[in-house]
This record gives sequence, structure tokens and C-alpha cells, in this order.
Amino acid sequence: MPVFKPVRCPHSESVCIRYDQRSYWIKWDTMTCRLATMNGRVELPFTVPAHLQQYLGHRICSADLCFRKGRYTLHIVVSIPKPVVTPSQEVIGVDLGLNRLAVTSQRHFLAEKRWKEQERRLFRLKRKLQAKGTRSAKRHLKKLSQKQFRQRRDQDHVLAKRIVEHATPGSTIVLENLTNIRERTTQRKSAQQRRLHSWSFARLYLFVEYKAQARGIAVVRRDPWHTSQTCSKCGYQHRSNRRSQSLFLCRQCGYQLNADLNAAYNIRDKYLACLALSGRSRESGPTCHVRRAIVSVLRG
Ligand SMILES: [Zn+2]
Repeated sequence: MPVFKPVRCPHSESVCIRYDQRSYWIKWDTMTCRLATMNGRVELPFTVPAHLQQYLGHRICSADLCFRKGRYTLHIVVSIPKPVVTPSQEVIGVDLGLNRLAVTSQRHFLAEKRWKEQERRLFRLKRKLQAKGTRSAKRHLKKLSQKQFRQRRDQDHVLAKRIVEHATPGSTIVLENLTNIRERTTQRKSAQQRRLHSWSFARLYLFVEYKAQARGIAVVRRDPWHTSQTCSKCGYQHRSNRRSQSLFLCRQCGYQLNADLNAAYNIRDKYLACLALSGRSRESGPTCHVRRAIVSVLRG
């Protein structure tokens, strides 16, 4: 008979348990759920926070059971049908940047001033801890990087929500395609460079896309080539048009405005020119269902 080494079941208290349609179900009318556990199936009552009541009754997908600070929460993903909206001709250009995070062509400057200070504070603390180099410092550094990740993700969520909120259902949001900006950029200042390389555009696009889908707004990307150097009034393009980080002054016609706002206008106009060329009215969005996660708190 082979002798096996006694093995322990590896487990972690911080990892969530993923449930799918075979391992759990939910009854919306009685507000109960049935979960598969190590001790068989358990039926439990749950409550839903007020701001998520609107998603009750929809078809359920997967769910995550999390245990945090003595409370069980079940994060349920529901599939809601795509809203029926008639596409409008409204197009909103959004300029993304490091100084002003997002500027729309409707003259909205969407960012919080405190975010920059938050970043700076974390960076200073990180630098101090790195210089220290002790085991305790390393432990703190790990915690700090997790905190930074959560902070940035939250900022992206807030930014994406604001971009989508300022657009009316049926309109189109045009974003810059910044996928290769790291190779293209000529930023030499270390602080600027650091911020640029730690910026996650892909995640912001993802957030904007799924938040826009729920409101029936299409999201497209356009190449940002020369959008910050071109005059949005006469179309004259020169490097010296942009006088400073914030000021745009056209050398040909003397048009003066905020540089990021000028770029947002250009991005919008670029997309409109594309539409006029191809003769289409609007790019239609994907037809899949919108997924929203709702959090349910299990009692007991
Ligand atoms: Zn001009």
C-alpha cells in the first residue's frame, strides 16, 4: 500500500469563494439564498442595500462569497437587458491627461484636486520605507502598494462615472487611444514620467465602456495624434501653438483657450470627420447584456 504524506487543505481567509449556477441559487421574493458549503447546502436570508434595490429580480450569473471584518457578503452579478434608446447625433470628446485627468468637449473638468496630494503622500511614504529597508518596512510597503492599487481603482471608477454621467443616453463618447503613449512620449521629468508609467488607461476604458453600456451610450477610441497642437477653430497645427501646460494660443488666428479643452474639441471633431467620410450615422455598440454586480449582506 502506498503511504501518502498527510496533506492539509490549503485555505486562505482573504480569498473569496466563487459560486456559479450549479452551486447556489437565489429567491428574490423571499430574499433567501442557498449556498453549497462543506457541511452541505445551507439556506440563508439576506438583505440588499438601498442603492442596489434597482437590480433585484434580474437573472443571476456568478457570485462571490466574501468574509471581511466578521461579516459575510455575497457579491452577485446580475444580467440586465440593454436599455432601448434611440441613437442621437451628440458626440462628446474626452481628453485624458496627467495634469487634468479628464476634460470633456462640454467644458467639464472632471478630477478631484485631492487625488494628486494622495498620490504624492503615498509616494513620499514609500520612498522613506524603501530607504529604511527593514523587514517591518517591507511589510508596510506591501500594504501600501495594495492601498495604492485600491485608491487608483477608485479614482478610475469615479472618473469613468463622471464621464458617463455628463453624456445623455444615445450619444457617443470619444476617448483617446493612449495604448502606445509610453513608447511615444518624450517626458523627461522624473515625477511626470513616474505618473505616466503608472497610469492604467486600459482599466479606465473598461470602466467607461461598461458604465456607458448600461445607459445606452456608445464608446469609441480615436488616435490622439496632434490633437493638443492643432487649433480647434482654424485647424492650424504647430508645436508652438501650445504655450504652456494649460494655455493654447493659435499662432495663425489668435484663438485662445484651455489646452486640454482644445484637445477635447479636436478629438470630437476627428470622430465627426470620420463619420462624415464613411457616411454612417453612428457606430452601434455591442449587443450583449449589461452585467451589474450587486452586493447582498447575509444576516447572521
Ligand atoms: Zn487657429
